Amino acid sequence: MKRIASLLFLILALQTTVPAWEVITHEGRRYVSIQDVSKFYRLRDPVLNGPAFTLTGGTKTIRGRAGTREIYINNVKYILCFPITQKDGQILISAMDVTKIIEPVMRPGLIKNAHAIRTVILDAGHGGHDSGAMGQRGIEKEATLDVVLRAKRLLEQNGYNVRLTRSSDVFIPLEDRAAFANRFTNAVFVSVHFNKSGGGPASGIETFALAPRGVPSMDEENFSYSDLKLHPGHTQDAENIALATALHSSMLRQMRLSDRGIKRARFVVIRDIRIPGVLLEGGFMNHPLDGKLIASPAYRDAFARAILEGVGRYRSAVSGESTYQPPSAVASATDKTSIPDLRRSISPIGMHPMLNEAVQRAAESIKAKDPQPQEPTPNAN
Ligand SMILES: [Zn+2]
Repeated sequence: MKRIASLLFLILALQTTVPAWEVITHEGRRYVSIQDVSKFYRLRDPVLNGPAFTLTGGTKTIRGRAGTREIYINNVKYILCFPITQKDGQILISAMDVTKIIEPVMRPGLIKNAHAIRTVILDAGHGGHDSGAMGQRGIEKEATLDVVLRAKRLLEQNGYNVRLTRSSDVFIPLEDRAAFANRFTNAVFVSVHFNKSGGGPASGIETFALAPRGVPSMDEENFSYSDLKLHPGHTQDAENIALATALHSSMLRQMRLSDRGIKRARFVVIRDIRIPGVLLEGGFMNHPLDGKLIASPAYRDAFARAILEGVGRYRSAVSGESTYQPPSAVASATDKTSIPDLRRSISPIGMHPMLNEAVQRAAESIKAKDPQPQEPTPNAN
């Protein structure tokens, strides 16, 4: 009886409350309007201010501006896969970004594959002959190991199993780090790094999650063959962004440096793993303020607390009770059948010119009987 009642409720809910998504094709890419986003997540009508918009409802907010790649969801900054755009007076967000960022961030409880987390793999960036970024007050490989050891103690005190890719000053190839992570289940992978700026002085913290298939990496200018490949990490796109959200917002709270946002890349350690993973950049070694903080035990403790808090937030977010809403044709990151159809966008018709070129190059490299086309191995500082 209870089952029939909930089935009836479901049918009613399907008929009455789930707005349809209107998919708008613009320059060969699929978009939805912010009106549709607000309806789907039951937010109030968009408040517009020129190209800027705000969607609010309850404790949730989404803010953005047409012409930019930044969006704030619940006050955390994300760098979108594609810019927000305008067409016929409507502000549009790419279907890819709705699926890969907004959905898992707004409704992490619906991520189906998220397992109960018992183990945390901590990866101290660099080591041995690979020093990483150098600052006046220290070197990256030492700072990352120290933060990781502090985080290990905290996590273990809180009942987690912790495994380290390195616990001393040794060089471990990136591929070996990913392979190590893949030995564990019910686990997450957290890679700890610090930044270095090349041009002017840069400051702040940023978090990298794996760029979804078909999305350019934010450390590369153009599409490459790698953008079109399905990597092991792609099976956890939703978990990756949920983990990035949890860790990044905890870093902002604990470490109090400026917010450079959650970004996308194909670094080996987050690309080749089969468990949810992120790469954290906890400030700039060569910035006067960041560098001073990074050298201090208090800041390293704060980083360690951020990791503990972030893993806890992720765990409760993905296991949390969530009001049921049926998966949508566009917006559910949890339903495999509703992930945007990439085949459509890589078919030669109506395709984005940049993607077209990348497909062409990929096809040529396959024709040249090169089974493993040469692609630059992304590396993080
Ligand atoms: Zn690094």
